[in-house]
Amino acid sequence: MQTAVSPAEQGRTEQGLAACVAIEGAHTPAVEENSPLAAASSQEAVALRDEIIRAGRKLWQRQYVDGNGGNISVRLGAQYVLCTPTMVSKGDLLPADICLSDLEGNILAGDRLRTSELLLHLEIYKANPRARAVVHCHPPYSTAFAVAGTTPPNGLITEYELFIGPVAVTRYETPGTKAFAETVAPFVEQHNTILLRNHGIVCWSDTVTHAQWLTEIFETCCKTYLIARQIGQPLEAIPDDKMEEILAFKRRMGLPDSRLARTAEAAAPVVGSAELAELFEQRRTRLEERD
Ligand SMILES: [Zn+2]
Repeated sequence: MQTAVSPAEQGRTEQGLAACVAIEGAHTPAVEENSPLAAASSQEAVALRDEIIRAGRKLWQRQYVDGNGGNISVRLGAQYVLCTPTMVSKGDLLPADICLSDLEGNILAGDRLRTSELLLHLEIYKANPRARAVVHCHPPYSTAFAVAGTTPPNGLITEYELFIGPVAVTRYETPGTKAFAETVAPFVEQHNTILLRNHGIVCWSDTVTHAQWLTEIFETCCKTYLIARQIGQPLEAIPDDKMEEILAFKRRMGLPDSRLARTAEAAAPVVGSAELAELFEQRRTRLEERD
């Protein structure tokens, strides 16, 4: 289905959407042949540690993490994961704090203990190879919905529909356990954002930055919805035909959304990874200009 979006609007939307699309194979696994120590000191690892630290600072500044709460991880090649340690504020992370783990959760490099919630991240990586980075945190509005066991309704806020779509809510399990990690497994293929009941939120994407953006988008959506409810007017839904355009766009971009049929067309983006890489760069430049 063709969308009726103007070329200029389409360009803007594609830049935004591409920023959160998970591209299979977008990261060249340059380090997987290396030993753990070589992988941990590779250029790619240095850049990823820096990205984790920047994301951690943003989570803390936006009050999405409290105490030592929240955790961030990213895949490094095919065999390894870089993750945040336990008992460190996400606002105070240093490169030496970041742990290198294998896909079973064994620490291979780093002086600190890994986060106990790495099992949750590993479950996501196992369930969906398109997930290359995971951010878990406790933003107040999102967590309020997790406590209530529900999500803001779909069809009201464009950014929510474009970047996220329907959000799953897990059953409650004790954090840090294998049973807790497994609660997300049924949802990971079709949801990039999942509420952990009575706990918080977890988002996956192709990069740490994009996963962190999803936490911001959902938190803002929760807050906006609650404010809109207080205005006292009936809430206006996005027209059905416009929602169809959004879904058609997501299908074309290969964005996860449980409303899309699970077809080969939905699973594979029709645009090339080079085109998407260019859109990512445009989005990054736009954000830097805005800063
Ligand atoms: Zn947590």
